[in-house]
Amino acid sequence: MNALKKLVIASNNSGKLREIGELLAPLAIEVIPQSQFAAGEVDEPHPAFVENALVKARHASRCSGLPALADDSGICVSALDGSPGVNSARYAGEPKSDERNNQKLVAALQGKVDRRAYYYCVIVLVRHADDPQPIIVDGSWYGEIIDQPRGAGGFGYDPYFWVPEFGKTSAELTPEQKNRISHRGQALMELAEQLQAGKF
Ligand code: IMP
Repeated sequence: MNALKKLVIASNNSGKLREIGELLAPLAIEVIPQSQFAAGEVDEPHPAFVENALVKARHASRCSGLPALADDSGICVSALDGSPGVNSARYAGEPKSDERNNQKLVAALQGKVDRRAYYYCVIVLVRHADDPQPIIVDGSWYGEIIDQPRGAGGFGYDPYFWVPEFGKTSAELTPEQKNRISHRGQALMELAEQLQAGKF
């Protein structure tokens, strides 16, 4: 029997680790959190999601000596020229606060008719720290921003992210429903296809 391939995940978010682990389990890939290597958090100063994901993946791979995967994500709002975008986690400044981020977003959209927004997620996998050909996959999820929160599921901007085809916010979807259609779910499914095709 072949040994499991090890893959370090550059995240300390337990929800993300579980989702990624479940998706990769059938592919005989063992997912290891970067916390096992005291990797610590790396700065994410870049203007593009993919640059930040790449920095995080290379850092985790360098610290562990193993292949590593990182994701970067955010919400882009049409009427705000794509903001908060890469700054989504810290839109309302330090320390990170979903509540203050959401208040700032709703205030910024006060009186605006255009409510279109999308979540974006990019995932980068490096086979080693200096991999010249990382695997890169992404996903976008389109919806609208509403003024009043609805639902208790999900995290971040989910109570304000209206999903027209469900007539619900993403915080009102079950985890299974969200994972099937979300930006992260789409990117993970594409990653699984590439891994199954033998890219790793
Ligand atoms: P990161 O990918 O963990 O850096 O997340 C970036 C930020 O984007 C999060 O802190 C959230 O504010 C927002 N975000 C990304 N994905 C989601 C999602 O699925 N639901 C709600 N907010 C999200």
